[in-house]
Amino acid sequence: MKINDEIIIALSKGRILKEGLELLDELEIKTLESMQDSRKLIYDTNNDKIKIVIVRAADVPTYVGNGAADIGIVGKDTLLEYGSNNIYIPLDLNISKCRMVLASLPECSPGPRVKVATKYVKCANNYFIKKKKQVDIIKLYGSMELAPILGLSDYIVDLADSGETLKANGLKEIDLIFNVSAQLITNKASMKIKTKSIETIIGAFEKLIQ
Ligand code: ATP
Ligand code: MG
Repeated sequence: MKINDEIIIALSKGRILKEGLELLDELEIKTLESMQDSRKLIYDTNNDKIKIVIVRAADVPTYVGNGAADIGIVGKDTLLEYGSNNIYIPLDLNISKCRMVLASLPECSPGPRVKVATKYVKCANNYFIKKKKQVDIIKLYGSMELAPILGLSDYIVDLADSGETLKANGLKEIDLIFNVSAQLITNKASMKIKTKSIETIIGAFEKLIQ
């Protein structure tokens, strides 16, 4: 890929990383060093204009929003929760798919104040506002499935794929809130300054996923 500007691509650590790297690999953008046995956070690639940085999922919109990275790959869930005004979302990459769901124990009968545990406070709030339901949101950082079991909450809002984790914890999916897949995002200013380079990269991704 022939581009003229220095481009930094931010990738989410964790689940999206593998499929994100596979896409880049198919575009012939390969890190010079293997990531497996490295603790580095920034990687040179076989394209001397392109560098890849690996950050926590929730930090990708921040890096790209502030222009520290030009392009990012991040889940729609993370974008909706931690999004920035300074980014464009030109392409749904259609990888790392899952669902944001509402779940509870089967015998759930909430009191007057419905309690919802989630890591996705903003997404949960928006959902219940749309439903015109008043709820108390309890912020957690992981293992949401535990909350209804221990009586911390009536419901959880969390990501599910096969639903096996929910099932294994005796929880039932009640509603699909939205479908999730990884999105390609770009910094708005980079898009103005490095238009041709970024459009070349978006175009390559577009062609690849068709
Ligand atoms: P961290 O571990 O740094 O707190 P995280 O838990 O948000 O971040 P991961 O769990 O590694 O990060 O990745 C989560 C992302 O992977 C989600 O934002 C989502 O877009 C995507 N994803 C795809 N399938 C699933 C799934 N079955 N469960 C959870 N996340 C999934
Ligand atoms: Mg995690």
